[in-house]
Amino acid sequence: MLKHSVYITHAQALSPDIVVGLADLPSGTTASTRRMQNMTARTEDWMQQMATANNDGHCLNLFASILPVELEAQRLYLEMLQNELSDSIDGLAFYSSASAAVIPAGLAHLPRLSMSSLMTPQQILREVMLGVDLFAVEFVNASTDAGVALKFEFPAPTDTYTRTTEHSHLHRKEMGIDVWSDEHATDLSPLTADCDCYTCEKHHRAYIHHLLVAKEMLAWTLLQVHNYTMINRFFTGIRRSIKKGEFERDVGLFEDIYEAAMPKGGGKGPRYVHTLGPRVLERYHVLKHLASQDSRLSTRILRPQRGKSESRGLQVTEDCSCSRPIVALEIQCNTRFSVA
Ligand SMILES: [Zn+2]
Repeated sequence: MLKHSVYITHAQALSPDIVVGLADLPSGTTASTRRMQNMTARTEDWMQQMATANNDGHCLNLFASILPVELEAQRLYLEMLQNELSDSIDGLAFYSSASAAVIPAGLAHLPRLSMSSLMTPQQILREVMLGVDLFAVEFVNASTDAGVALKFEFPAPTDTYTRTTEHSHLHRKEMGIDVWSDEHATDLSPLTADCDCYTCEKHHRAYIHHLLVAKEMLAWTLLQVHNYTMINRFFTGIRRSIKKGEFERDVGLFEDIYEAAMPKGGGKGPRYVHTLGPRVLERYHVLKHLASQDSRLSTRILRPQRGKSESRGLQVTEDCSCSRPIVALEIQCNTRFSVA
């Protein structure tokens, strides 16, 4: 477990662009009154320690965590931030966008960082409408890993869009291109026509498709270059739209014109890890329990064989010379659960 003092030492040594004060967060959806008191007291204590260390010759950009609980539960903590630490903190970190409503006036001018896991541009736009300024754009990495090239812009292009059609959702634009798809195998066009990134200026879809199929790391590097260019353009568009006073209208258009979810890539990413689904996990634990009840049984994880990735799973065998499987589970056929 990381001690708070170690966290401060590492933050000072690494000197990142932003340091978020540690927060004591609830592990479930609800917390008892006693638990909330402890959360706010511990978070307040950590924040004071962090601010004191930062005032002692260090110039970190310190963001205070705002807890995802009601105003009453963290009123004293917020008052302490406003009255004692307002000169020591450079921003606020939110674990729930709803917490923006509890910010006292004395802290309202500070930049706001979202700690939420946002997986679509639409979710980012909704948080911007609530006043959030900074984001971790997880879906960019997720899209790159999935072999998807981002293809959306803000404000959304309205050239082919007619709001009057009742079934316009049927013709919504995709927000990305699955470059794994065979339709790009001989396509000599760039990932997106109007992109000036290195990938789009130097390479075509067919080349990147080939690199993906060949499992060359360069495929994901080139996709990441393009995807970060697209997300930078997305945020540039947001700032321009806010400046023009058209943000709310542009968000409505974006939601009308684009699909609500990012497209899923057709292949496996460079960091692909085979994970067990919830149903399979449930059966895994049943098998482990069965094995623990009988000393003659032992469990072993089946490793995938070359060309037979379907063989991965868990097998419980009798602990005897014949090793006859008496219980078997195959992940790809996870409806099969046989007890011999
Ligand atoms: Zn590009």
